[in-house]
Order: sequence, then C-alpha cells, then structure tokens
Amino acid sequence: MADTKKTHLRRCCGCGTMKDKTQLIRIIRDSGGAVLIDDSQKRNGRGAYLCSCNECLETAMKKRGLERALRCSVDGSIYELIRGKIEAKQ
Ligand SMILES: [Zn+2]
Repeated sequence: MADTKKTHLRRCCGCGTMKDKTQLIRIIRDSGGAVLIDDSQKRNGRGAYLCSCNECLETAMKKRGLERALRCSVDGSIYELIRGKIEAKQ
C-alpha cells in the first residue's frame, strides 16, 4: 500500500497539539449516541482525541474540549475510564 507511511495527525482536545493518531487515545460517539473509548481506532462515529497523559485529560475536563469535539455531554464515568487507561499505560 502506498499510503502506509502517511501520518494521520489529529488534535488533542486537551493541549491542542497535533499528533499522530497512534499516539493519542481515541474517544468516539457512536451512531446510538454512546460515548466510548475506541481502542481499535477503527470504529465509525464522531471522534475526539486526547494525549495519553493526565494533564491533557484534566485540561479537556476543564475546558470541556471533549464535549465540544463530540458535540454531546460526556459522563464522568467516561473520564474515569480514560484516566484508568492513561494510568495503565504508565
Ligand atoms: Zn494533549
């Protein structure tokens, strides 16, 4: 495939930095309106991205960056799931 080396830059909704999407956690809102973490990065739905660090998670919570990116409210339990994911990576 010719495009395998193409970078897929996405913006973190915490710090606003553009990073390759493989370095970011993908959160999506699926067609049913459910917000979930997309580990496969392949699910359909409106996606938002976040660096795998607590600082960006905190910023995203404060600025409601995730809500804005997904255009829906994000339950506190989602943030807890993301936090758990970040801590598991460290
Ligand atoms: Zn970030």
